[in-house]
Amino acid sequence: MNIFSRIKQILTLPPFHPVGDPKKQLLFIVNPKAGRSKATAAIDAIERHLNRKKFDFEIVFTQKAGDATQLTHDAIDASVDAIIAVGGDGTVSEVAQPLVHTSLPMGIIPTGSGNGLAREMGISRLPTKAVKQINRFRTRTIDTIQVGNKYCCVTAGVGFDAHLSAVFAEFGKRGPTAYLQLILKEIQKYKPQHYRLTTDTQTIDQDAFILTLANARQYGNNAYIAPTAKIDDGQMELCIIDPFNPLIGPEIFFELFNKQIHYNEHYNALRCTTLTLHSPPTVTLHIDGDPFTLQTPIQFTCIPHSLTLLH
Ligand SMILES: [Mg+2]
Repeated sequence: MNIFSRIKQILTLPPFHPVGDPKKQLLFIVNPKAGRSKATAAIDAIERHLNRKKFDFEIVFTQKAGDATQLTHDAIDASVDAIIAVGGDGTVSEVAQPLVHTSLPMGIIPTGSGNGLAREMGISRLPTKAVKQINRFRTRTIDTIQVGNKYCCVTAGVGFDAHLSAVFAEFGKRGPTAYLQLILKEIQKYKPQHYRLTTDTQTIDQDAFILTLANARQYGNNAYIAPTAKIDDGQMELCIIDPFNPLIGPEIFFELFNKQIHYNEHYNALRCTTLTLHSPPTVTLHIDGDPFTLQTPIQFTCIPHSLTLLH
């Protein structure tokens, strides 16, 4: 570029505004029950480390199931710039529901035990670091899976994982040790079911121990059911684990936590954009860990690039 064109370029630059951008408005939706001390630590981190030059913020609390979704609806109407879910996977899922198909970003300060979406997005479980990530205001758009009128961000399943989420919801204890106890107890009783389903490319008719649709690679807790899945490729990964001899249970468990399950001979995965589950007639289904009992047919559809996240 010669000197004359450089001068011309400088003269045509847009005017400089010394005032800077107006502050962004953030709403933090806190579930105080999801790890009580972690919620307190998260609020402390927000107050100490959120960049006040860039953001104004408000903190609101949920009291019962459904509150986080309602508060998110209200915040969309009030034109905030981002909504931050402070809680476990249940809170994250509730906040995400109204944000699908909008460009309004969702942030996460994870205070649960699984933290599937937060882990997948590389969001720190240390509240101070998670707040500093929010300060960057870096966004990424991901796919979601629509199941009826719900959206799944992480995984949806109808096999043993769904059975576990239903039993765990009724189980008095919480935390990883309680969850492991429950797995060991339930795995001995669980009877794999026969499934018939069609995807946009295949028909599948077989018994399965696990039948999971993965948007993210993991359930949470670094249990990788779909090590090769991509959260923004416009496809969901159907992961099937065939019924297996209980003796290889520990091997499967080890492989889940070491991103190696796709090497197991009982494991199969395929990518699809739509899936219809035709049978059994009634299933226990989990969507991001929340259990439901539903009649088939159930349709699952990947909605590409439908949710924007801060990470
Ligand atoms: Mg995908």
